[in-house]
Amino acid sequence: MTDQKTENVVIIGSGPAGWTAAIYAARANLSPLVFPGRAVSKDLVPGGQLMLTTDVENYPGYPDAVTGPDMMQDMFKQAMRFGTRVVTDDGVKTGDDLAGGLFSIFQNVESLDTSARPFRIKGDNGFEVTANAVIIATGAKANWLGLENEQRLAQTGGGVSACAVCDGALPMFRDKDMAVVGGGDSAVEEATYLTKFASKVYLIHRRDELRASKIMADRAKNDPKIEILWNKTVSDVIGDDVITAVKLTDTQTGEESDLPVGGLFMAIGHTPITQFLNGQLELDESGYIVLPDPGRSYTSVDGVFAAGDVADHTYRQAVTAAGMGCKAAIDAERWLAEKGLA
Ligand code: NAP
Repeated sequence: MTDQKTENVVIIGSGPAGWTAAIYAARANLSPLVFPGRAVSKDLVPGGQLMLTTDVENYPGYPDAVTGPDMMQDMFKQAMRFGTRVVTDDGVKTGDDLAGGLFSIFQNVESLDTSARPFRIKGDNGFEVTANAVIIATGAKANWLGLENEQRLAQTGGGVSACAVCDGALPMFRDKDMAVVGGGDSAVEEATYLTKFASKVYLIHRRDELRASKIMADRAKNDPKIEILWNKTVSDVIGDDVITAVKLTDTQTGEESDLPVGGLFMAIGHTPITQFLNGQLELDESGYIVLPDPGRSYTSVDGVFAAGDVADHTYRQAVTAAGMGCKAAIDAERWLAEKGLA
């Protein structure tokens, strides 16, 4: 199905950055069109990374916490209320005819062609559209080990997470022994953060040397609450409803052991969802979109804006992503006005 009309602005992605961009663009009468992603996809899932989180306690305005999926459903409803449209497998829908809410069957983006304006965007189920401006808010997915029990407990709030800053302060982790997997700056940062709540934090690293910067590595080594377990990988996660231990394998001897822990945090890097861009936008060496003026949302292609984790590997918070979504919508609105396109 092909829509002949050129859209003012197409938003790709539906985490806090995407919906916030949609709320602002809709309220500016730009009638934004969103490709939210596809639930079965391994990368751009409707609602983004927060759909994989349990309680969110650090987003302002929710004094009693909110679950990640509830918060995303609320953002979705707010965006739809002001006239945002979304691309589903049944074509473009508005709030009024979307009974499934954020759990509707949406389309993901297959490709974005920025070689000429208006830009051409193809969905993964036949939908095609052109747009004067595009906001990319596809996020970054946390890397996981890929173990079956790791995924099961991560998805059911069983004490396995890929974000210590998001989940580490939850009551379930208080005064427990916890473990962080990884040897980079994130792993050290997360382990250090968790020492505020944990009785002890194990840093499990697969080599005998940290990848983290020296200052961060020294911080971990000198923290009395952190014990680094060298040359170890996690080969299984143990626990029915909640994690009780991890199975470790020594990378040098192959020896296996069980380590009792009440929480497990992955810090083995993130992968930004930028593969569909096919090298058309400037990316940094890790694949994140480069914002030439870091305070703004402009990318290397005029008329294409970026917001949220896809352009930010430093903060990666729901609230910072939402703030960037707001900036992208305002930048796009002004850009369209300057060009006389809306
Ligand atoms: P990173 O530097 O890529 O480190 C990832 C770590 O995970 C590495 O130690 C790696 O082990 C390990 N790892 C990867 N895959 C694994 C697997 N399958 N099993 C076990 N371990 C695995 O990622 P990051 O720590 O998220 O940092 C990303 C960037 O952000 C870096 O440039 C970092 O400096 C920056 N950052 C800076 C700060 C700060 O300055 N405050 C904080 C956070 C992040 P190997 O070492 O063996 O490869």
